[in-house]
Amino acid sequence: MLLDVRDLQVEFHTREGVAKAVNGVSYSVDAGETLAVLGESGSGKSVTAQAIMGILDTPPGHITGGEIIFEGRDLLTLKEDRRRKVRGAEMAMIFQDALSSLNPVLTVGEQLGEMFTVHRGMSRKDAKARAVELMDRVRIPAATARVDQYPHQFSGGMRQRIMIAMGLILITHDLGVVADVADKIAVMYAGRIVETAPVHDIYRAPAHPYTRGLLDSIPRLDQKGQELYAIKGLPPNLLAIPPGCAFHPRCPLAQPVCTTDEPPLYEVDPRRRSACHFWKETLDGAR
Ligand code: SF4
Repeated sequence: MLLDVRDLQVEFHTREGVAKAVNGVSYSVDAGETLAVLGESGSGKSVTAQAIMGILDTPPGHITGGEIIFEGRDLLTLKEDRRRKVRGAEMAMIFQDALSSLNPVLTVGEQLGEMFTVHRGMSRKDAKARAVELMDRVRIPAATARVDQYPHQFSGGMRQRIMIAMGLILITHDLGVVADVADKIAVMYAGRIVETAPVHDIYRAPAHPYTRGLLDSIPRLDQKGQELYAIKGLPPNLLAIPPGCAFHPRCPLAQPVCTTDEPPLYEVDPRRRSACHFWKETLDGAR
């Protein structure tokens, strides 16, 4: 196990009160595996990543519980100088605007290759071959031909893939990037994980109405001219998260029990979980 986040809790102390930005999040990533975390703004995905990276603004943010085990070490108990070393050498965070993270005057091959020449002492020729391999791995077409191009010659989604090739954690609104690059997905809502599953299972049939809403909001070529689906309402105010299932005010399948009982993460199958009392019905409806 490369990264194991256990029951992470993050609060923001504001003048209006305490906002529970991350509320008991657990997930894990194996070496060589890519996890995509999905959710609207304010769902807690970026705050979780900032907590993992050790770049949370404190105050107002405070990690109030949980563990972040990275290669066997609990990052939350490391001294800041050790933490900084891990961050510099072993972790990277890719922001949505990948253009600002890439150097505009170096080719993508030079930037990807730098990881191997500087950190692993490889020759430039070998490093370039590794850069092409990485570009293939994140599904950039014609990688051999494009390795000598500059960042502005790639689309936004491609630039993000290039950054993913350099990093570990992916934060995106682009579900096309997710489908191509990720092995598994964690969907977050109101600071909690509401569904986790291998990427293809989720795309085939989501087991949570919120995931279904996110997927139905993607424009599709075969539905040209039709109105785009949008999940009704807005994400909740984290100072006043609704009782029961936090998604109930927006959920088309909500029942009375959803307004009172918070759903646990039910096991759908050994690799898949959903925090919906009606995950079976949701799954059947999506098939
Ligand atoms: Fe919707 Fe109820 Fe499931 Fe929440 S628990 S997602 S409100 S059906």
